[in-house]
Amino acid sequence: MRRSILTKPRRAYGGSRSSGGSLKGRLLIGLVIALFSVGAYFFGTQDVYNPITEENQRVAMTVDQEIQLGLQAAPQMAQQFGGLDPDSRAQALVDEVGQRLVQASAAGETDYQFEFHLLADDKTINAFALPGGQIFITAALYERFQTEGQLAGVLGHEIGHVVGRHSAEQMAKARLMEGLAGAAGVVVADPDNPQSSAQMAAVVAQVVNMKHGRDDELESDRLGVRFMADAGYDPRSLLAVMEILAESNGGQTPPEFFSTHPNPERRSERIQEAIKAEFPNGVPDGLIQ
Ligand SMILES: [Zn+2]
Repeated sequence: MRRSILTKPRRAYGGSRSSGGSLKGRLLIGLVIALFSVGAYFFGTQDVYNPITEENQRVAMTVDQEIQLGLQAAPQMAQQFGGLDPDSRAQALVDEVGQRLVQASAAGETDYQFEFHLLADDKTINAFALPGGQIFITAALYERFQTEGQLAGVLGHEIGHVVGRHSAEQMAKARLMEGLAGAAGVVVADPDNPQSSAQMAAVVAQVVNMKHGRDDELESDRLGVRFMADAGYDPRSLLAVMEILAESNGGQTPPEFFSTHPNPERRSERIQEAIKAEFPNGVPDGLIQ
C-alpha cells in the first residue's frame, strides 16, 4: 500500500511537466517577497534629514549601527591591505591630520567616531571609509604625497563619505535589490531552500567591497573641500591629489578615487567650482599646503 503511494510521484516526476498549481504558488510567493522588499525599502527605511549635506536620504541604519558595523568590518578591511603600517610616525601624522579636519569642521559635531589608519600595502593606491568613521589610506598612496595638505584632501574626502552616510544609503538600496533577487530565486528554486547562516559575514563583505557612485564621489569632494578650508588647509591641494592619481593610474586597477570616475578632468573642474563656492574672493594666502 505504502509502496504504491511512493511510486506515484516518481511517475509524475518522470512525466513531461509538474502541476501548474505549484508554479503559480511559487510565483505568488515570489511576488509577495518582491512586494515585501519594496515595502521594506519605503517603510522599513527612514527618510532622514542630513544637516551636513542638507538633503533627505533613505537609510536603514541608525548612526550607532553604522559605527558598530564599521568597527566590526575594520579588521577585515585592514587585513585585505597588509594590516596596519608599522611606521608609527606616519601613522600618527595620518591620525593627527584626520582629527584636525574633524575637530575644525561640522564632522566633529556628529556622533561618528573617527579613526584614521595607515595600511601597510605599498602596491595598491587607495583610500576608503567604512560607515561610522573608520578611515583607511594605503602606504602606496601616502608615499606619493608631497605635502600635508594633499593627505588632508584625501582624508577630507573620506570623512565626506562618512558624514554623507553614503554606505548606509547604498545598503538600504542593496537590501531592496537582495529582496528582488531572492524573489526571482523562489520562482525557479525550491521554496524550502535554507538561507545562509553567515549573514553578518556577508554584510561585512558587502561593506568592505562597496564602491561608491559618481554622485557620492562628487559630494565627498565638495565636503572634503569644505572640511579642508575649515581646518586651515588649502583646498587646492585636493587638485594636486587628482594629478598625482592621474599620473599613477597607468594600466593597473584604478584607485578608489577614480573607480567611478572615467573623467578625472571633469572631477577637477567640479572641485574647482567647490573651491570657488567656498572662497568667492579667491583662496587666501597662508593656508597649509
Ligand atoms: Zn570616494
